[in-house]
Amino acid sequence: MRSSLDGRRARRVAAALALPLALTLSALPALAEPSPSPGEVVPDRQSTTAQNGVALMRIVVPDQADVDRLNAMGVDLAEYKKPLDNGIEVHAVLSPEEAQSLRDQGFDVQGAISDQTDYAENQVERSQAMRSAAAATAETDTLTPLRAEWFTSLDDQRFLSVEVKSSATDAQTVLTVTWDSGPGTAPDSGGTAAMSRFTDAGQYMYHRFNSPLSVTQAPTTVTVTSNRGGSVTIPVTKWLGAARKAPGKHYVADFVDHYMDPTEVTDRISSLAREFPKISEIVDLPYKTNGYRRAAQAQFGTVAASTFYVSSKAYGHEGGNDISVALTKPEAASSALGVTVTGKDVVVALATDASGAVTSTARQVVDALNGDAAASALLAAGTYRGNAGTGQVAAAPATRLTDNLKAPATVSREPFQMKALRVGKRRDGSKAGVFLYCQEHAREWVTPLTCVETAERLLRNYARDADTRKLVDDLDIFIVPTVNPDGAHYSFYDYNMQRRNMTNHCAVNLADPAARNSWGVDLNRNFSVGSIFDGYSGASTSCTSDTFAGPSELSEPEAKNEVWLTEKYPNIKFAMNTHSYGGYFMWPPGAYKAAGRELLPRVDYGTESFFWSASSHILSAVQTWRGTAIWPGRTGPVPDVLYSAAGNSADEHWYNKGIIGWDFEVGADVYNPETKRFQAVGFQPAFTEGHEEAMEFSAGQIAILEVARAFSSDKNAPKSELKVTAQTAGSTSFTFTIDEPANVYYTLDGSRPTLSSPKLTAAGMREGAQQITIDATTEVHWFAADIAGNIEKNYKPDGNGKNYNKARVVVGDAR
Ligand SMILES: [Zn+2]
Repeated sequence: MRSSLDGRRARRVAAALALPLALTLSALPALAEPSPSPGEVVPDRQSTTAQNGVALMRIVVPDQADVDRLNAMGVDLAEYKKPLDNGIEVHAVLSPEEAQSLRDQGFDVQGAISDQTDYAENQVERSQAMRSAAAATAETDTLTPLRAEWFTSLDDQRFLSVEVKSSATDAQTVLTVTWDSGPGTAPDSGGTAAMSRFTDAGQYMYHRFNSPLSVTQAPTTVTVTSNRGGSVTIPVTKWLGAARKAPGKHYVADFVDHYMDPTEVTDRISSLAREFPKISEIVDLPYKTNGYRRAAQAQFGTVAASTFYVSSKAYGHEGGNDISVALTKPEAASSALGVTVTGKDVVVALATDASGAVTSTARQVVDALNGDAAASALLAAGTYRGNAGTGQVAAAPATRLTDNLKAPATVSREPFQMKALRVGKRRDGSKAGVFLYCQEHAREWVTPLTCVETAERLLRNYARDADTRKLVDDLDIFIVPTVNPDGAHYSFYDYNMQRRNMTNHCAVNLADPAARNSWGVDLNRNFSVGSIFDGYSGASTSCTSDTFAGPSELSEPEAKNEVWLTEKYPNIKFAMNTHSYGGYFMWPPGAYKAAGRELLPRVDYGTESFFWSASSHILSAVQTWRGTAIWPGRTGPVPDVLYSAAGNSADEHWYNKGIIGWDFEVGADVYNPETKRFQAVGFQPAFTEGHEEAMEFSAGQIAILEVARAFSSDKNAPKSELKVTAQTAGSTSFTFTIDEPANVYYTLDGSRPTLSSPKLTAAGMREGAQQITIDATTEVHWFAADIAGNIEKNYKPDGNGKNYNKARVVVGDAR
């Protein structure tokens, strides 16, 4: 299922982008989708309501003559034609049989643009939208302010960010913001702008700007008006820039000067542990990866029906690369198909007919190779992507198989030993643990630098800087600079856009060499909480999808290692999962079920408040390096600001272990004052930019350690107050204010409050505390508990004491 129309489009674009590479490798139609299995009976195109697999497909043809040919064949072409570097792209509505028939005729039929699933989804979206439009009455809407903030970013440019939710959720609701230009100025003197309606999974979320607005003066208030009559004026607060103690004059930083592959970063943390044995050590993670290694392969043929490929049984570096295969045409007429193996050289003598012409088909050659004892000890053969292989094979000179791996010999081809660097003065489990991990996604090259820089700063400043010493003395820090070493080696040396690990879970019909950049498991979708296997959105079960969740939860050693670390060291209470790019700061929940956008349970009000207050500290630290502000609109629970990510690791750590987990996306968009636009930085920016990102987000990781240390040493109990917020003749509303992030447990029936009593909740997504409304005078009893476990007035919720808070909330004329 998709999370949004944009998500659907992005996935399709990604699928399309993967194809030209495969084409250059194989000069063959590269198929994005597996074909129906041979012999499977699929009804041909019928009515639109039956799920016959009819889909709108892309076809790439060399020139106009082929477009005309398709047209003459009666193919159901769309009114679309796009010139490409290598030909012309047209779109056609095809059943699976029609698509296969075109492929068999040599047409390059690619992935689906839309299919019956989209049709069903569109119908659901349509009826949802019509229901909510009906619900939106002509009455005045109510506007709920969520956030209004100004901030500076890079070169002191000022920006304004506003989020407001309308009670009218339909698409015809238009919100407009005006703002002043500082204290004492007219309310509209700063400017005016329309807001964008933010929807996800077909549901209205709130209105915002797509990117923050550049402003000349910091506004004091904004006024938002709706075309449905609603209006609200909101004070504007400053986002980030919290005063932060400058590092001491002996503090040292900046230890990375080039992008590093996983072998280099792992060597670096190992040498750090040797250099600082009193305050650090290496923890070997128990599950070795599959390794930067592959079977050796070769492919023969130019069109699908006459093409086959072979894969070595041994990995390339273990002898697979030494195998060769030749296809010879015998001089004699009427000779039989035969296979000869000499050492590692395989020769297939093709069959000929009475006239001496070759008659062997791809299928026959495949069967002969797989049926020969000596050949099948060396290799396995297959037809091209499930093709029946009825085309005749041509003779070919001896071709050496290759694993296609290009990393230098310094990169081991063996299973990789993943390592964590453990930093702390007392590493006995008595100190609060923090788990910093980077590069779950291979192509995110800046992220391991961030983890390495943080390790260097902690160890090299221990003897020089009192603040660093407090962190190392009071915490137990685990740093894994690369969670995906095999995939990252592949990204460095073979295919730079590799996101997943290197393990091929595809069946034989997608295991040909041209498919090799489409294999692997998305490690941040392989975890066991809110996974695709549990019905959550934002991952794939297709082995060639870039968000492939793997064959099952926690199938991959890299993911198992993360879980192992949190189980082995239960003192770990905080985690940071560092990715790139976009400049985000996020926390759980991280996934929802698309139907009804059913989220994993939101964290409670006290924890959410803790996340927000920690944001201010952590993101202000990021900002100190070069002024980068992470936007308010890119801060918050994952699905509120990005998209659903089924089976991600932060959810695993939070829901299974209670570990407070964040996600960074390093690489905030950079504002260009000349074009007045934000520009995305990408996965692998020039190192000068990548270096800056590593420096600023290492400062953010250090700030997370400061938050963890403050949490672990927090002995202060929270203080709370009851505040009446609204009164009418028949009812009174109240809420609680607390002097730090904490939960309030309360009773309305005069009983003693306990940890099982109702908890104060948030009024809604990105909103403040709920209002509790009563219609009769009530004795309210309550206490606050912070997330470090300190309880107001040292009240014992499970005891008998009466030292909780009490207030009488009066309704109407009882006053
Ligand atoms: Zn990522």
